[in-house]
Amino acid sequence: MKILKFGGTSVGSPERMKQVAEIIAGVPGEKIVVLSAVSGTTNTLVSICEQCEKGNKEEASRIANDLEVKYHEFVDELLGQAPAADTNHEFVKQTFADIRALVDEKYSEQVAKMLVVKGELISTRFFTDYLNSHTNTAADMVMAQDFMSLDEYAEPDLKLSGKKLKHLLTEVKNDVVITQGYIARNAAGGMDNLRRGGSDYSATIIGAVLGAEEVQIWTDIDGMHNNDPRIVQPTHPLANLSFEEASELAYFGAKVLHPHCIVPAQLHEVPVRIKNTMDPDAHGTLISSHREPEAVKAIAAKDHITAIKIKSSRMVMAYGFLKRVFEVFEKYRTPIDMITTSEIAVSLTIDNPEHIDAISKEISQYGTVEVDAKQTIICIVGDLIAERKGMGKAIFEALDEIPLRMISYGGSRNNISLLVSEEHKKEALIKLHKALF
Ligand code: ADP
Ligand code: ASP
Ligand code: MG
Repeated sequence: MKILKFGGTSVGSPERMKQVAEIIAGVPGEKIVVLSAVSGTTNTLVSICEQCEKGNKEEASRIANDLEVKYHEFVDELLGQAPAADTNHEFVKQTFADIRALVDEKYSEQVAKMLVVKGELISTRFFTDYLNSHTNTAADMVMAQDFMSLDEYAEPDLKLSGKKLKHLLTEVKNDVVITQGYIARNAAGGMDNLRRGGSDYSATIIGAVLGAEEVQIWTDIDGMHNNDPRIVQPTHPLANLSFEEASELAYFGAKVLHPHCIVPAQLHEVPVRIKNTMDPDAHGTLISSHREPEAVKAIAAKDHITAIKIKSSRMVMAYGFLKRVFEVFEKYRTPIDMITTSEIAVSLTIDNPEHIDAISKEISQYGTVEVDAKQTIICIVGDLIAERKGMGKAIFEALDEIPLRMISYGGSRNNISLLVSEEHKKEALIKLHKALF
């Protein structure tokens, strides 16, 4: 069993969807195909939600109407005159009638959650019908909301999801099963999602719970590159990465993978392969438990980081100080990414500022608190990098013009992290790239 996930660009047009059908036909054996929404759709649905939240229902409906027109054109091009075209036009009409009904409802977080998943519901329906009516590949569809389950903390419940999925798979007839990425059901039974970019996570969760042979992430680039190709040129794809390296890169900003998607794959030792839909023969990146000793593999950057400094001459060296500080973050379920200490202060970073006011207020009983938003973590990833002679010198020389707010060195065998203010991100990535590759 293989899991093949296709991202938004890969299913972004009728032509691309047809190409995806060919890729699937070329992979032998049982497959679960996980699809994202057509590129741009989730962003459009998010903007509909934003208009609803502001009370601009007319504008929300107008955006929905424009999107509906595009989807009818999509059906024409994908399915032509086949009977499946009629049923899919009907499906689009019904879906957009549902969207407009949600727009008319009183706005709530749950209404937004029901809106943002519509893209995956549409793309999977189109694609399944295309396979069954226009190709020799017969496919079944399994609905993600019937198996992908979140726990009370909104984290995926692998055990429950696996149990439900295995049960659903006993009922399918074909070797190819199509399902939606991103979509999940929460502990209260409501429609939910795995957060933006979550289709990668759907794929690795499915791969993990089924003990799949491999998870393939098909996207618009030929693998994980050694730096962010949107910012630095030229970058090159990495043939191999260990789970640890890929995990650090995904978590610290390499957009090609959802921040948490390597975790289930690593836990169940399912290799993950990143492949390019536009160039299927390219090797891509293989992520596995295999480790290649090599100094520096890649650099990534994670934006929108908040740094918090707690200063206290009395407390820092006292037993239990850090414990009390950490307990505050635990209480608000806010993970800490980086931490550095001195005799009189401790600095740490978070990427979820939702509870920053409450956290600052509670920790201010232990010292003076300073909060700096708009920071970026630059993460240098490789094998045993902190132990390499000259690494520190190379990094600091490259960045000697850039103020470094925090440094985390030697915390893991795979990562050195630096905190800079967001305005210095681009320059830091370019200078490090020059110095390290
Ligand atoms: P999909 O829609 O297939 O999920 P994404 O847009 O989420 O695709 O991710 C692919 C994009 O990630 C690439 O087009 C590239 O611009 C961006 N990206 C950022 N950092 C990296 C990196 N280190 N390696 C490869 N791609 C990266
Ligand atoms: N469609 C969702 C998003 O745009 C999920 C995904 O593409 O992975 O975030
Ligand atoms: Mg993505």
